[in-house]
Amino acid sequence: MAFRVLKFGGSNIRSPEDYHKIVDVVARYKQPVVLVVSAHYAFTNQLDEVIRAAKTNNYWLNSFIKNWHAFFSDILKTQIKNSEFTEEALKNIGEIFRNLKKQLLGINYIGDIPEFIYDNALCTGEKITALLLSTFFQDYGKATKIHFPENAGLITDGIFNNASVEIEQSREYLAKTFREDAINIVPGFYGVSTQGNITLFGRGGTDYSAASIAACIEAESLDLWKDVCGFRTANPKIIPESEPIQELSYQEAAELSYFGSEIIHPRTTDPVSDRNIAIQMFDIRAPEKYPTPDTIIGNFHQNEYKLRSITQSQNFGIVKLSGAGVGIKPGILAYASTALHAGGINIKSVQTSQTSINILLDKQELATAKNIIEEKDIHGVKEISMESGISLIAAVGQGIIHKPGIASRVFNAIAEKGINIRMIFFGASPVAIYFIVSEEDMENAIKSLHQALFR
Ligand code: ASP
Ligand code: MG
Repeated sequence: MAFRVLKFGGSNIRSPEDYHKIVDVVARYKQPVVLVVSAHYAFTNQLDEVIRAAKTNNYWLNSFIKNWHAFFSDILKTQIKNSEFTEEALKNIGEIFRNLKKQLLGINYIGDIPEFIYDNALCTGEKITALLLSTFFQDYGKATKIHFPENAGLITDGIFNNASVEIEQSREYLAKTFREDAINIVPGFYGVSTQGNITLFGRGGTDYSAASIAACIEAESLDLWKDVCGFRTANPKIIPESEPIQELSYQEAAELSYFGSEIIHPRTTDPVSDRNIAIQMFDIRAPEKYPTPDTIIGNFHQNEYKLRSITQSQNFGIVKLSGAGVGIKPGILAYASTALHAGGINIKSVQTSQTSINILLDKQELATAKNIIEEKDIHGVKEISMESGISLIAAVGQGIIHKPGIASRVFNAIAEKGINIRMIFFGASPVAIYFIVSEEDMENAIKSLHQALFR
């Protein structure tokens, strides 16, 4: 029988009750399942800080280990009825924390964070969740099997902190791994390289782990259990009356995620889209709705021309290279992008004119990017400036760039409110139009756009 792959993320795992809730959700499934889980809420953020701090001091390290070890032990002692299960889990968790402590002390000792240690340490929380959840299931009388990616063979390309899964290679291992007669549990967020290194999929990467596993085993569906009610026509924090979206295409979901919707990891659709495995979004706050998902992501809307949703992000910034004729001089963009690539910086979008080249980047990386380009001292570039304080807004829908009139509706809605559009990107993606406004104009722009497009 085909498996379903279920993902549970950290925002669903905040309290002892949440572990019981997951047991309840899984009991609703009448076919074999693989659960892919991320770390307990806030654990990875704190661990990330502790790893960085460990380079120079060991104070945080000790209190982090002590507090979280006590916290998880307490969950086990208060929630698990069968003391044999508790003992066994406490032993395993003790081992995990001892191992983590060794890694942190090592970092402290050498005053450096080797990449392979960083990746190895940061996914500790996922292993703990897998262990805890497995213990909860056992206590409810269910058989479980934990599959650590390094043993199961979830093989990656070996790129630290931003790895991708080698689906074909992993498929051979994973095909024989999961058991129909037990609840399979996999810690998310990482895989293993062919050299045997643990490599992370980037922050929030458990969605991508789950999608990769679903692709490897040709799962019947990838079910993402989150604490939101699926995708909507806009973020309900800004537009409370935004409408739910029942069906999204893979491309629409990918672009919405790329441009700021934080509902799924932007790479989630990659492994499943060409295998046509449906991604089903469920709200863990309303499990009784199962098996009806809030949103299904699949091969929808291929011959339609319709706007589905708008999204926004404050995480972008621009590096601007100015100088007479930069737009027509060959090689400038190549120099800049090669240098940025060497510095590990991802370019999100580019727009050029005769006198300037605008490179859209993650806001966090803006200053580093500017320095990198300055150091290159590119001939013809007179000035390099940065712009933050901007918001990117994207309107997404299959086929929208082919339909006459959509752009004018989008931009009229913004102009009507007297909002200045600073830059427009149109045509890069067949399913998205995006543009930039000042940060303070974002909310009004979204409201006006939603009103114009969805009512
Ligand atoms: N725990 C990891 C993170 O916070 C992975 C995940 O949540 O998907 O980034
Ligand atoms: Mg998370």
